[in-house]
Amino acid sequence: MMLKTYKYRIYPTSAQRQTIDATIETCRRLYNRELEYKISQYRDHGSTVGRKELQQMVKAERAINPYMQAVYCQVLHAVGKTLLISYDNFFRRVKTGTEKPGFPRFKGKKDYHSFTYPQLGFALNENRLQISMIGEIKVRLHRPAAGAIKTCTITRRNGRYYACFVCETTGAPLPATGRTVGIDVGITDLAVTSDGEFFPRLAAYRKAEKRLKYLQRQVSRRKKGSGRRRKAVALLARQHEKVANQRRDLAHKVSTKLVQEYDLIAHEDLKVKSMVKNKHLAKSIQDAGWNLLFNLLAGKASDAGRRVVVVPPAHTSQICSRCGALVPKKLSQRQHDCPHCGLSLQRDVNAARNILVIAMTMTQGEKKVS
Ligand SMILES: [Zn+2]
Repeated sequence: MMLKTYKYRIYPTSAQRQTIDATIETCRRLYNRELEYKISQYRDHGSTVGRKELQQMVKAERAINPYMQAVYCQVLHAVGKTLLISYDNFFRRVKTGTEKPGFPRFKGKKDYHSFTYPQLGFALNENRLQISMIGEIKVRLHRPAAGAIKTCTITRRNGRYYACFVCETTGAPLPATGRTVGIDVGITDLAVTSDGEFFPRLAAYRKAEKRLKYLQRQVSRRKKGSGRRRKAVALLARQHEKVANQRRDLAHKVSTKLVQEYDLIAHEDLKVKSMVKNKHLAKSIQDAGWNLLFNLLAGKASDAGRRVVVVPPAHTSQICSRCGALVPKKLSQRQHDCPHCGLSLQRDVNAARNILVIAMTMTQGEKKVS
């Protein structure tokens, strides 16, 4: 059994938005009270407050607090669970000593955006999400959730609302196809395969990126603390999200297709590769796109019993994938024409073939396990 998360945009009515916002605020206040309780119990009595004590606290408070009565009971209990998890993470970090431990903090309005139905109180039927104490909300199901839904989290981000479902699925291995592939990632195409398949970034995506840059300039131009700047900042945040959503959709599409069609997928290790010369915004956007693609690919491949081989970057665009000769070319040169063996191939397809060759050499010496 494995867990997968699906995130969908939801469209609450204005009355529902108010209820959701109020629920988030009630949960935030509860979180802070619980944290305070935990700290003071430890300080004054040396006792550790656990799940049971927090549940009792919620029960007692809910009996007299009308704000809490307006929130589904399990949602309130889930707040304490989150707090305990952040404590666990804190102690884990203290133990390993590799990162700054960071003690659980009190949450301001800007740090708290969600609440969770940990088990019950929600139902998803086609394009409708029914959640207890809030009502029926329209959902955009851009891809179906697979498996049994375990939890439902409602999140508010930049004035938009989302539902995240954690689902339990059995990782089902796909039948072997006997095919292997190398992929090269790029700027105009998110990925190009050694079989000559191109996965272009959509025109809409490029347009959205352009608008992102425009809004970025607007923000920096406007006076700090001005209303106009605040407005521009809000627009910029939304645009960032739009670009991120489009990026995620494309990365899902590409990773799903590759995992379905190939037993082994090879790509370069991008931690060492830096190919975008533009140091500004474009870089962060494209890096994130590639990382997301590779993360999704790794996850889906492991579900499906596929193999991903990460190869060290090694001038894959400059070497001829047929004869191995060095054929230097500038970044603007989109075609690989080998003067030695006559191979003529689109530049990125040639690179993808080299990536596959390196991966096959790397895995050749391995013992076959039957
Ligand atoms: Zn050649």
